[in-house]
Amino acid sequence: MTRFVQPAPALDDPYTGDRLLRSWLERQLGADGHAAAKGRLADLAADVTGPLRAAHADAEAHPPTLVRYDPWGARVDRVDTSAGWQAQRAAAARHAVVALPYLDAARATWGAGTRVVQHALLHLYGPESATFSCPVAMADGAAALLSLPDVDPAVRDAWLPRLTSTDPDTAITSGQWMTESQGGSDLGRSTTTGRPAADGSWRLTGEKWFCSAADAAMAVALARPEGAGRGSRVLAPFLVPRYAVDSPLPGPAAPDAPAPGVTVHRLKDKLGTRALPTAEIGLRDAYALPLGDPAVPGLARAMTLVVVTRVHNAAAAAGGMRRGLAYARAYADARHVAGGALAGNPLHRATLGTLAVDAAGAFALAGHTFALLGRVEVGADPAAAAELRVVAPLAKLATGRLAVSSASEYVESFGGAGYVEDTGVPRLLRDAQVLPIWEGTTNVLALDVLRAVTREDAGLPLLRRLAAAADLARPLSPALADTLAAVTGELRGALTEVAADPGAATVVAGARGLALRMAYALTAALLVEHAAWGDEQAELVARLWARRWLRHEEIAGDAHHHLELLC
Ligand SMILES: Cc1cc2nc3c(=O)[nH]c(=O)nc-3n(C[C@H](O)[C@H](O)[C@H](O)COP(=O)(O)OP(=O)(O)OC[C@H]3O[C@@H](n4cnc5c(N)ncnc54)[C@H](O)[C@@H]3O)c2cc1C
Repeated sequence: MTRFVQPAPALDDPYTGDRLLRSWLERQLGADGHAAAKGRLADLAADVTGPLRAAHADAEAHPPTLVRYDPWGARVDRVDTSAGWQAQRAAAARHAVVALPYLDAARATWGAGTRVVQHALLHLYGPESATFSCPVAMADGAAALLSLPDVDPAVRDAWLPRLTSTDPDTAITSGQWMTESQGGSDLGRSTTTGRPAADGSWRLTGEKWFCSAADAAMAVALARPEGAGRGSRVLAPFLVPRYAVDSPLPGPAAPDAPAPGVTVHRLKDKLGTRALPTAEIGLRDAYALPLGDPAVPGLARAMTLVVVTRVHNAAAAAGGMRRGLAYARAYADARHVAGGALAGNPLHRATLGTLAVDAAGAFALAGHTFALLGRVEVGADPAAAAELRVVAPLAKLATGRLAVSSASEYVESFGGAGYVEDTGVPRLLRDAQVLPIWEGTTNVLALDVLRAVTREDAGLPLLRRLAAAADLARPLSPALADTLAAVTGELRGALTEVAADPGAATVVAGARGLALRMAYALTAALLVEHAAWGDEQAELVARLWARRWLRHEEIAGDAHHHLELLC
């Protein structure tokens, strides 16, 4: 009897195969702007389908290790990583995945749209980066923080060029040390303290409980300046070099010269993100440089970094969903069930079509955050800043949850093969689960949304966008327009109730439901805007998204019927 061997699924090029990505870029950047980005995107896509896919597998198969001592007994606390991880690091630098928004030439070409191009790069790079997308996010956040005008120019000039270098030999990434064992979400419980030294630098002492990118050359740590008092507002961000300050400039390869006072206790054994070293780190009078004046309450400064990592998180969620869809579609093309191709089976097509609707919605939501961020950074646009205040937590929380539910379906769509490690499929689920946890769990972000809409009136730009989208939708689909108008009215009422008594137990208990409803309505509005520009796929997705997430209707029939257009 011949042994049956399943054909391996053949994957598309992630750039040319992603119609929504291309039309989004065409609209956001204009034809010339998109044309100017094509070379970069095609190069990265070619690397992803070639060497980076192999590097990703290698990094997953060879997790990082902690080397505590050198052969002679000296404490080195070095984190060793795989060749695959190093290849991902080099590619992130070469393709300017962090650097792009900081490059003068890129800003001259795309202006505020530079962040839109960066989002496209992340969308292609992230899903098969073995979660190098995490150090990328934190390096970008650190670069944004270092770019603030109140940061000492000498510190900025020493570190920013390395974070934004496109040369793999000099580019570095950053960690961010915020979470402590007694307080992750509750930063007010942080006990790490900072005291000034005679030379203008500071010394930090405390314990950090979750420090990803523990191999990075620097980290941004939150600490309570001596005498600053209690609470979270006064916490200040500090730059902690990971290698001895009198050693040559820290490059990407960790020299055996750890900064004094920084101890790596252990690496975490995690559910997913296995290639990413996440450590528990102790600080004892560790050398640190203030990022801004520590006497000025610093949490607001640190939020510059957090907003950037939150929008990266949304990009990672949406990118992973899109790549999961590509995997699942390729498998359905190769697999036969019930006498025919799985890809032709109406029930399976409905499953994939529904996943495609979710992936497209997540993409629009993530894409919008990058467009807003670009307008804030390049155009100093106050309207964009007001909207980003609420859209960043909304996008992060909604896409994080969608990424987990979709990843579970993607694994299932491979049948038993989806549960077997060397197919590469199980990690889709493992790696998705971190997305709703770090940088704010769903509840914590929902509370942040409540704060934004009550203290900063950040609900207004959202309501305006929804009302405008209802008008735009009218010629496309009266039913969709009616749904958007109804949800806008409902949300206006809900936000008025919230404003009347933000601390009421019922308001707090309903924060998650309200935030998700806001995020789903915003997603429908963004899809309508893209449809009104002339995108047929977005029009269909907008209608199905609104039925699925705003009216809670079954969309299987349409999802099956229109699968090709949805993908
Ligand atoms: C893979 C991974 C990598 C990470 N990397 C880093 C890193 O590099 N740097 C870093 O600083 N941190 C990192 N973290 C930590 C992460 O940011 C925290 O775990 C997260 O912020 C949650 O904090 P916590 O663990 O203290 O959980 P808790 O805050 O104790 O949360 C426990 C539960 O309580 C809920 N909760 C908390 N507060 C409230 C509230 N006020 N109202 C209602 N519900 C609430 C949460 O939603 C959650 O369900 C990482 C985590 C993971 C999993």
